[in-house]
This record gives sequence, structure tokens and C-alpha cells, in this order.
Amino acid sequence: LVVLGLETSCDETAASVVRLTPGGTATVLSSVVHSQIDDHAAFGGVVPEIAARSHVEMIAGVSERAMAEAGLGYGELDGVAATAGPGLVGGVMVGLSFGKAAALARGLPFVGVNHLEGHAVSARLGAPVAYPFLLLLVSGGHCQLLEVRGIGDMSRLGTTIDDAAGEAFDKIAKAMGLGYPGGPALEKLAASGDGSRFDLPRALLGRKDCDFSFSGLKTAASRLAQACETDQDRADLADAVQSAIARQLAERSERAMKDYAEKHEHRLLVVAGGVAANKTVRSTLEAVAARQSFSFLAPPMAYCTDNAAMIALAGAERLQLGLTSDIDTAARPRWPLDEARALADPVHP
Ligand code: ATP
Ligand code: MG
Ligand code: FE
Repeated sequence: LVVLGLETSCDETAASVVRLTPGGTATVLSSVVHSQIDDHAAFGGVVPEIAARSHVEMIAGVSERAMAEAGLGYGELDGVAATAGPGLVGGVMVGLSFGKAAALARGLPFVGVNHLEGHAVSARLGAPVAYPFLLLLVSGGHCQLLEVRGIGDMSRLGTTIDDAAGEAFDKIAKAMGLGYPGGPALEKLAASGDGSRFDLPRALLGRKDCDFSFSGLKTAASRLAQACETDQDRADLADAVQSAIARQLAERSERAMKDYAEKHEHRLLVVAGGVAANKTVRSTLEAVAARQSFSFLAPPMAYCTDNAAMIALAGAERLQLGLTSDIDTAARPRWPLDEARALADPVHP
């Protein structure tokens, strides 16, 4: 199966062509990502109206480039997949409409994909991954632990009670005067810091569930940021923040691994989403996974933050199962990954 995937749910206009064999091996034939960071940087965050307009300007060109780099014509595709939500609805509608039009024009099947389902399968873009697995989804808008039994068959074990992990990185970075997006900037600064002098609060310690909370850390770090005088102070604080976020992700994942291990023989922890690009987060998770006798896998770096290869792959996996979407599939600004409707068409929510 060869599928064109489109992603426009936030501030990346992306298109990708992915081939999926019946045995489940995925090959990325092309992956084009146009980041709008420059359009939004002056505002310190994503401005929905600017994002939607930029998607309108870019989507056709980005899609053409993905097809050209894959060396394929539209006639050689087996389907078109586009993110149908969750995300900024103006942006989602751009990719969704473009995808439907491309599918209709060529008489191809169309698949509306949940953006989070894309993140959930993204590790499969780098290595074969068998279901089921335990997933830590850590992105700009989500921080969840999920039991992933298959496409459209996931249940949530825990979630954040306030901010997402990426949001915590972004907000603390902003308070420290770093640019947007904050995660990569904070990681870079932390490399020259030593956070051991800061004692940041630890949340939810000892709780039996698998939930997360970052608001206490955010408040404490923002206050400390005001008191930073030198570049070294800021680097040390960045290192402390990064360690504290990584530590909480690891602690809560370890709780989930203990529960998960009682139900499943195949022990695999997968991390996905933008925060999975963070090297300290990866290595901290890898260490607790090893302690719990879990294998550990993260997507290739390029497929942690938003991209369309993960959307093409999720679409291809759905097509393999015979799951397609109606052409009147609606954009869904909110769309939890673990609801039963994930399997069905996201039509008229
Ligand atoms: P969602 O997927 O929940 O809708 P999103 O699509 O905006 O949100 P992603 O693109 O998956 O999120 O991830 C972006 C987030 O990842 C941002 O919050 C960003 O700061 C964070 N991030 C990216 N790279 C790093 C890094 N190296 N270290 C820490 N955080 C990072
Ligand atoms: Mg983004
Ligand atoms: Fe995302």
C-alpha cells in the first residue's frame, strides 16, 4: 500500500508518502515539513488565524513536493490520509479538504486520521513494532500513558491533570526568556548547565494512578527564572527543569509498566510526541524501562514532532484493516484517542 498523508493540525504544513507492506514494514518515500515557526515566533506562540492562512498558502506546494520526492504520480497511490483532528480547527480543515479533494479527483479511498493516532504509530517509521505496547505520548498538547492494542484500539491509563509535558517546557522556557518553541531551546541551554543546586517540587509522588502534573514545577521554575542573574544561572535552571520533567515522566511510566506487566507478556515501552525528541527524556525513560525489564523504543528524531509520515502510516494501517472514512468526515477540534469512536468514522461528531 502506498499512501499520501497530510498534516495541518498545528503550525506545520506537512505531506508524506509512505509504503506499507502486508507484513507491516513501513518505508518513508518522502516527508516534507514546512514549519511556520518564523510566522509565529514574534507572538511567542501559535496564532490560529495566521496558522490557517499559512496552511492554505502552503498545502498544495508541500503536497506536490512530497509526490515529486517520492517519484510517484497520484495514480500510483492506494489512498489519501489527512489529519481530521484534534487541533486548531481552521488548520485541520485545510489539510482535510485538500486530502478529500485529492482522493475524490483520483477515485482513491480517503482516511481521516486522529493526529494522536499518528504519534502513536510513529515509532513504526523507524523499526518494526508489534502490538500491543505501552505508550507514553508526550507532545505540546498531550501527556498520556496508553495501552495500545492496535490501531483504533487503545485505552488510557493516565493523563495530565493540568499542563502537557511540552506545554511545561514551552511555558517555562518563555518565563526564562527563551524563544518559541521552548523545548528545543531549553534542551540546548541545559547542555551547559548543572541543575543540582535547584530543588524543584516533585508532583504526585506515591500516587497509585498514572496521572501527571506540571503546574507546581512551572510556578516554581518561573519564580526561580526571575532570580537568575547570569547565563550560568539560566543554564543551571534549564538543566534542573529538564531533569525534573524527565524524572516525572519516568516515575509515572514506571507505575504504568508495573500494572501493564501484570496483563501482558510482551513488555515494550514506546515514547512518542515532540518531547520524545529530548535526549534526557529518552535516556531517563530507557533506564526505568530496563529496570522493569521492558524494551524501549522512540521514533526516529524527525518523526517525534509533527510530520505527515506518521499520518500516512496510520492511514495505511487503517486501509489495511479496510477502514476508510466518508467524504463528509468532519474536522474535530477535540478527539480523544481512547474513545470507541476512534475505530469508526469521525463523521458529524
Ligand atoms: P499535540 O500533538 O498534542 O496536538 P503538538 O502537535 O503541538 O501537540 P508536537 O509537535 O508533537 O506537539 O510537539 C511539540 C512539543 O514538543 C512542543 O511543546 C515542544 O516544545 C516540544 N519539544 C520539541 N522538541 C523538544 C525537545 N528537544 N525537548 C523538549 N521538548 C521538545
Ligand atoms: Mg508544531
Ligand atoms: Fe503533535
